[in-house]
Formats: sequence, C-alpha cells, structure tokens
Amino acid sequence: MAGDKWTLGIESTAHTFSFGLVDSCGIPYPSKSDTVRPLEGGIHPREAADHHRDFSSDLFNDILRSQNLTPEDIGAVAYSQGPGLGPCLRIGASVARTISSALEVPLIGVNHCVAHIEIGRQQCDCDDPVLLYVSGGNTQVIAKLQGKYRVLGETLDIGIGNMLDKFARLQGFPFPGGPVIEKLALQYIEENPDASLKGLELPYPVRGMDLAFSGILTAAQRLIEKGHSLGSVCWSLQEHAFAACVEVAERALAHSGKTELLLGGGVACNNRIREMCTLMAKDRESTSHAPPRMYCIDNGTMIALLGHIELHNGRVTSFSSSGINQYLRTDDTLVSWS
Ligand code: AMP
Ligand code: MG
Repeated sequence: MAGDKWTLGIESTAHTFSFGLVDSCGIPYPSKSDTVRPLEGGIHPREAADHHRDFSSDLFNDILRSQNLTPEDIGAVAYSQGPGLGPCLRIGASVARTISSALEVPLIGVNHCVAHIEIGRQQCDCDDPVLLYVSGGNTQVIAKLQGKYRVLGETLDIGIGNMLDKFARLQGFPFPGGPVIEKLALQYIEENPDASLKGLELPYPVRGMDLAFSGILTAAQRLIEKGHSLGSVCWSLQEHAFAACVEVAERALAHSGKTELLLGGGVACNNRIREMCTLMAKDRESTSHAPPRMYCIDNGTMIALLGHIELHNGRVTSFSSSGINQYLRTDDTLVSWS
C-alpha cells in the first residue's frame, strides 16, 4: 500500500449502511451513511440488506467526493465481519471484496464491537478504559485484559437500544426510539422537577455483572396501560436502565483497577447516560469520556480506523477467510496493538 493512500471502511451490521475514511496517518473523516427506517415493525434483516445493496453505489461515490478522492486514492478496504445480521453483513462483505479486488488493495475484515472501542479511544484520547458499550443489539461492559477486550458483563437478552426502540414502537414511534424517549423524559423532568424523589417503580435490570432488559420493557408498558403519563414512564425507564448499566460499569472499574470509562454505541448519544457516567466517575476519582455522536452510532469511519490499525499491525484478510461471522464475540479478536 502506497504511503499516502486512504483506508475505506464499510459498516453494514444492522440498520445502517455506512462508508467512512481514515487517511494514511489514521486520521478519521466523517462517514456517509443511510439508515433503514421501517414505517412499522422492527428491522427485517433481508429488507435492511436490500436497502444496503441499493445504496452501495451512491454511498461509495459520496464518500469519495467528500474528500475529493478518486478510487485510486484508496489503499485498503475494511469491513465489518461481525457480529450482526447475516444478510446485512453479507452485503457489506461483498461490496468490500468487490472494491478490494477491483482496486487490487488489501481487504481487512474487522470486529464491529472492537471498532466502537478504538474510535472512542482515538477520539477521547483514552489509554486503557473500561468501555460501556450500549447500542441497539449489544450491551456490554468491556476491558482489555491479557491481549483481548474481555466482556466483564453483558445483556442476557436484548440490547438496551432494542429495548428502548421496542418500547417507543409500542407507543407508535418509529425506529430509532431512543432519541424520542430521551426528549420525552427530559420534558417530563423539566416540568416535574420533584419527580426524581418519587419516581415510578420498575424492575432493576442488573443480574450480577450482567444485565437483562425484557422484564423492564414489559413492566414499563404495563405502567402505560395503567394510565401513567408517557413522559413519567420514559423518565423512569431511562433512570432504571441507565443506572443498571452504570452500576455494572462501576464494578468493572473497581475490579480492573482502571480509571477511565469510555461510552460507545448509539445509546451513548443520550445526555442522561453521559451525565450519570460523569457523576459516577467523579465519585471514583476517575474520568468518563464519550466520543462525538457521529462516532457513537454505527459508522464506516470506525471500521476504516480499525482496518488501518490492523493493517499496520500486519493483518489482512484473504478472500478465503473473508466470510462473515454473525456471532463474532468482542473477545474473539486478538488485540495486537497498544
Ligand atoms: P447502534 O446500534 O450503535 O447504531 O445504535 C442504535 C441505537 O441507539 C438505537 O437503538 C437507538 O434508539 C439508540 N439511540 C440513538 N440515539 C439515542 C439517544 N439519544 N438516546 C437513547 N438511545 C439512542
Ligand atoms: Mg454498533
């Protein structure tokens, strides 16, 4: 790969198809993305994959144009190899193979979860953080121990973002529901500042070092059916769900002895979870960090960055091993960089 070439990153694990770039020094540039937004129901994997296929050419052209590049400026192509929805991952991998073979440049299949960590470390200048990864499909507390990002705690059922999206959908709000819930919760607490002392009761989703969100979803819906206002339930839902995540993250900090907390994933766009993390970290004489929102949600830039890092550590993906892995775990990936 010539010294001044860029790395292209392709993200396609679920709802979002995204192309991003890092330059030859690994400096990230904003992605070009499109997200499938079904009018009703959840994300259907095959429909999302069709969406990704239809947008591939436009997004590729858009990302090149965004930095005035031509295809010849691309020196490597990285893509999300997993975890995610099979049909969606397959589109991203096929597009990546096509571009890599047409341009005769290296292909690097990367771990989507690890990409969230690395873009956060890069953006927030973190050295060795505990990561609270809160996204649609994933909820994990992660720390690097003995050469891998180890999962110290995670959801035992659905991701926190899926829980928020499902609750919002039951109230008639389309995907993504998280931002709507945040807005309604904020409005409620501003209008009812004393509510924080009373609050509605919901099950607390901590299970040891793990979490589980289906019970709280059912209970929140029951509160709506009993006639509690939507704002009050949104506020209580956020308080309970976020407090549970922050508690597990705090214990991970205590166990690992680390002093940096890093937020990642789409739910990390939420100001309330950011605030709770900051308060917790301050109490522990630690620091809490959250990357810019465009790098919290799924984005091609984080894939490009991890591809760049892995390439410079000598890893490329041969075509024969470029198949996707829906069930790739955060701790399947050897972290050979510092
Ligand atoms: P990801 O899977 O990492 O791309 O993140 C998507 C998830 O983030 C969806 O479940 C969204 O509802 C959720 N999300 C995005 N913005 C917010 C927000 N402001 N508050 C809570 N959840 C959010
Ligand atoms: Mg993600």
